[in-house]
Amino acid sequence: MTAPWTARVLTLFPEMFPGPLGHSLAGRALERGLWRIEATDIRSFAEDRHRMVDDTPAGGGPGMVMKPDVLGRAIDAVRQGFEGAPCLYLSPRGKPLDQARVRDLAEGPGAVLLCGRFEGVDQRVIDGRGLEEVSIGDFVLSGGEPAALCLIDAVVRLLPGVMGAAETLAEESFTGDLLEYPHYTRPTEWEGRRVPDVLLSGHHGRIDSWRREQAEELTRERRPDLWSRYLAGGRGLRPNQQNPISVSRKD
Ligand code: SAH
Repeated sequence: MTAPWTARVLTLFPEMFPGPLGHSLAGRALERGLWRIEATDIRSFAEDRHRMVDDTPAGGGPGMVMKPDVLGRAIDAVRQGFEGAPCLYLSPRGKPLDQARVRDLAEGPGAVLLCGRFEGVDQRVIDGRGLEEVSIGDFVLSGGEPAALCLIDAVVRLLPGVMGAAETLAEESFTGDLLEYPHYTRPTEWEGRRVPDVLLSGHHGRIDSWRREQAEELTRERRPDLWSRYLAGGRGLRPNQQNPISVSRKD
């Protein structure tokens, strides 16, 4: 049997892992051996008496920078026997993570994830080890650990056997550049708000079209970037077009 998808995380706070990923869907999958996580303490690669991992920025300025010699050793160690996996540095300057990249990662053997702290890492490590910088959004965290947890969570739910019914993945947000339609459940009326009649009609064709219209409306309003991509892909719903989306039960 091939090894399960593995996250090798480099961090100053290995105790933060698996953290929230030890629970619920990801946690059950972890227990079942569907994926693995190995958190390695960057500090164990510091060789001086004080086990220093950071130093003052060259050129001055506030904060501290993570040292290239320590990081280089740490990266080389966790890459051993894991050469096929991409080596990512979680960074606000990185390419924004999206569902396509997540899908890509899920198809590979795993990933090495370097979590920064302080002002970040010495540029020579990024260049010298060919790290791919990945951002989880246009905001600044105090460390890469929460970003790594987000990335791993997004990957793990795509791994075979992790989600209950395979179909639940088929039509969620970003699949086909559309945000997902709104969900409702019982009770049928709550605080004077009713579940839309069409959803109670039992008419699957109409329900499909309604959901598709809602998804299109939401995407157009909230995410003009996705909307233009969707239109460019020629996937806009034209009058009388058969709705290609099939309906499935959500987890
Ligand atoms: N001085 C840096 C910010 C450092 S934040 C700058 O302005 O670009 C400290 C660490 O948090 C970073 O090294 C990175 O690993 C992590 N981090 C912060 N924001 C992030 C984001 N949006 N996505 C991924 N990682 C992030």
